Amino acid sequence: MAEKDVNRKVLLVFLPSESGVDGAQSLYGEKEINPFFNWFNHSLRSIIKQSQFAIPPLSLMILSSVDVPGVEQSICDMRFEKFPFDKPWDLVGISVQTGMAKKAFELADQLRSRGVSVVLGGAHVTLFPRSCRPHADVLVHGEADDLWKELLIDLASGAIKPTYHSDTFPDLGLSRPVQKRALIKSRYFTTNLIQTGRGCQYRCDFCNVHLLNGRALRRRAISDVVSEVARFREHDRRIFFFVDDSINADPVYARELFQKLVPLKIRWFGQATTTLGQQHELLSTFADSGCQALLVGIESIEPASRIAHKKSQNRAGELVKAITSIRDSGISLYGSFIYGLDGDTLDTPASILDFVNATKLDVPGINILRPTPGTQIFERLREEGRLLFDPLDSTAYRYSFGQEMLYSPKNIPLDLFVESYSDLTQKLFTVKNALTRGLSAPRAKSAVMLFNLFYTHLYALSRHDLRHQQEMDGR
Ligand code: SF4
Repeated sequence: MAEKDVNRKVLLVFLPSESGVDGAQSLYGEKEINPFFNWFNHSLRSIIKQSQFAIPPLSLMILSSVDVPGVEQSICDMRFEKFPFDKPWDLVGISVQTGMAKKAFELADQLRSRGVSVVLGGAHVTLFPRSCRPHADVLVHGEADDLWKELLIDLASGAIKPTYHSDTFPDLGLSRPVQKRALIKSRYFTTNLIQTGRGCQYRCDFCNVHLLNGRALRRRAISDVVSEVARFREHDRRIFFFVDDSINADPVYARELFQKLVPLKIRWFGQATTTLGQQHELLSTFADSGCQALLVGIESIEPASRIAHKKSQNRAGELVKAITSIRDSGISLYGSFIYGLDGDTLDTPASILDFVNATKLDVPGINILRPTPGTQIFERLREEGRLLFDPLDSTAYRYSFGQEMLYSPKNIPLDLFVESYSDLTQKLFTVKNALTRGLSAPRAKSAVMLFNLFYTHLYALSRHDLRHQQEMDGR
C-alpha cells in the first residue's frame, strides 16, 4: 500500500494530577470530608473549569504539530473527557509525569490488554525508563521533537521500533511551527502558549529542569517566535503565556524578542527570576510589550536555605528591592516560596509574612518541598533517611497542593512543621486579603483576585489533608 493511503490514528493523552489546580480535591477521597466541604469542592471545581484556568499541555501541542503523511493525530485531555475506548487507535501516546506514573501505567496496561499499542514518553520515562518498559510497546526518552517524527514515519510504514532515544538535545534553532488544530480551544483559559527555549543554567537541587533539558540555554529563532505569536493572535485574542522557566535567562535575546512583540499589542504572563529587578531595560521592555504578571521563584528568604539548596541567583537581601522594582514597573507578581528547606526554622513563617507584607506580593504561593525522584535533593534525603515513603516507589512522590508531607524537615519536628505551615497559610489566605491583593495589583487585577480566592480554598484543603495524614500516622 502506498504511504499516502495509510491512515494511522494516533491519540496523545494527558492525565490530570490528583489534586492542585486540576482537581481541588482531597487526596483521601471525598467520603472523608464533611458534606458541606464536599459540596463546596464540587462547586469550586466546576467554577475553576468554567473559568478556564486550565491551559493545554504544550508537549502534546508540539507533538501533534508534527505532520507525517498517512498519520492523523488527536489529543485527549483527561481533565475534560474520558478516554475514548470505543474508537480504533493504532497508537496511544501517554505523557508520564513522576507521581502520576501509576495512573499512566494502569491506562497503558488496560489499552495493551485490548490490543492497542502504547508509547510512553515524558519526564518519568526520561529519568526511569526501566520502570516504564513493562507497560509500553514503545518508549521515547528525552525531548521528543525529532524522535516523534521518526516514530510516526516508522508507524506509517509499519516498522515501529521499541525505543526512540537521542544522545543530543534537539536544535531549537530549526523551525518547527506549533499548531493548535488538535485542541478544543474553548476548554482553556488560553491556548496561546509559547516556548522560546529550553534548559537552565542554574542547578537548584530540588528541580529537575536542568536534568531533563540540560544546563545550556537553547533558543528558538526570534523570527520564528514572533511569527508564531502573530499567527496565534489572529485566531485567539486571549492572553499569551510564555512557558519558559525563566524568560529573562538570556536578557539580550529576551530584549530583542519582546521589542519585536511591542507592535503586536498582546497581553502576556510568564515566569522569570528575580534578577529581572536589576535588568532595568529588559523590565521596561517587558512592561511595554504587554506583560501583565510574572511568576518568580523566591523559594527561600533564609540565606542558609538558599545555600543548602544551591539557589544561587539573587541574594536574599536583594529580593525585596528586586520585587519592588518589578511591581513598580507595572507588572503583578506571583512569588513562589518553599517552606521547610534545610536552613528553615520555626521563625521562618514570621519572616515570610513580613516579606509578603513588605513587598506587597500579589499572589504568594507557599509550597512544601516535594522531593521528586531523580533530583539531587531526593537522593540526599534518601541517604539521610528523611523520606517518609518507600524511595523505590517513585509514584508515592506525587504532586499535591501542600496536602501531604513526603519528608522530614531538618530543623523542625514534623508535627510542629505541619502546625506552623497551616498557621502561615491561614494567615496569608483570607477572603479579605484576596480582595485587597486584587485591588492593589499593578495589572491583571481580576486574575490576581481570583487566584487568591482559589488559593484560600486550596490551602484550606491543604490544612485538612495534612491533619488527616497526621491522624493516620498517629494510629
Ligand atoms: S528552580 Fe528555576 S532556576 Fe532553579 S534549576 Fe529549576 S528552572 Fe533553573
